[in-house]
Amino acid sequence: MKRRELFGAAAAVAAGTATLTALGREKKAESPAPARSDMAAPNISQNRREFRLVTSWPKDFPGLGIMPNRFAKALFDMSGGRLDVKVFAAGELVGGLECFDAVSTGGADMYHAAEYYWQGKAKAFTFFTSVPMGMTVAEIMGWIDFGGGQQLWEELSAQFNIIAFQAGNTGHQMGGWFKKEINSAEDLKGLKMRIPGLGGEVIRRLGGAALALPGGEIYQSLQSGAIDATEWVGPWNDLAFGLYREAPYYYAPGFHEAGPALAVGINLDIWNSLSKSDQAMVRHACRYANDTSIGEYTHRNGEALQILKNEHGITPRFFNDDVMAAIGKTSVDVVRDIGNSDAQTRKIFESFERALLTYRDWTDMSDGRYIRARQLALGD
Ligand code: CA
Repeated sequence: MKRRELFGAAAAVAAGTATLTALGREKKAESPAPARSDMAAPNISQNRREFRLVTSWPKDFPGLGIMPNRFAKALFDMSGGRLDVKVFAAGELVGGLECFDAVSTGGADMYHAAEYYWQGKAKAFTFFTSVPMGMTVAEIMGWIDFGGGQQLWEELSAQFNIIAFQAGNTGHQMGGWFKKEINSAEDLKGLKMRIPGLGGEVIRRLGGAALALPGGEIYQSLQSGAIDATEWVGPWNDLAFGLYREAPYYYAPGFHEAGPALAVGINLDIWNSLSKSDQAMVRHACRYANDTSIGEYTHRNGEALQILKNEHGITPRFFNDDVMAAIGKTSVDVVRDIGNSDAQTRKIFESFERALLTYRDWTDMSDGRYIRARQLALGD
């Protein structure tokens, strides 16, 4: 595998390639299941709480399925084993998209999922995950933590007897895998693409057919010809599914998911029954799951992209200006329509939009300009 030199540390980089880890070849540096044998039983018998956490993810799935495990382990460790969360993968206790109802009604205590799965309950939930042409990872963290987002989120979730916190982020996603080149907006017409949520609505308005298939059905659907294209996550998770074998045209950017936040939702009665210090530990465990996921996705996507390029001959492409102009304009229309669909959604949309308008200038000035400058300095 050939690496380019950046700062003259090529030797160090080359040595690093020997430890490239991607899916399937990964040494388990971190056990997904908490090791609990070292916890002494006698001193934790008082105030010990056990929680059932349901998820939308396959068991121990790279990234997504590990985040709830990390949350559980962090909470267990911080509380000296007193707060014990049992994680259930999609389908083990309830289906992946039934988490919200289970936690709302007390059938489970917590969930780890993406809030935009609950758009059927309230359209506003989508703003707490991602919308097309929406926020980057840093921007959504800014809005939720400092721009009023958390308070609005709590008001919304309380209507369903839930409180939710950020507890993961996949980072910027990819535009998807296509069986044919996409050279103009015309090429999207008639395209059968797996792309859920508002991104799917964008494709639909551009003349395509958008399907919301669960992850486990994507590969087979590409193989059978049921779909012509799919988005999933990014290089790390996409490589795991082998999508490059069926649809070799890999396009950026992920216009629909620039930094989707994932969440832990907690039954509000359970939350209110916790002491202030236990609540603080839950918040910190969520934050730990959130922060580690951002670093991990950066690391693993970087490695997986190199494997796709160097071992599988994939050359990532970029939607051209014609395609992006059509997608961009339609994205703005879709988000505006959803955002104004009812009074509650409008209130959240206005806060989101105000924050995005404020942050956009700064992100363009900082990340945007810096990345262009770095390409000039180091080559792109
Ligand atoms: Ca996705």
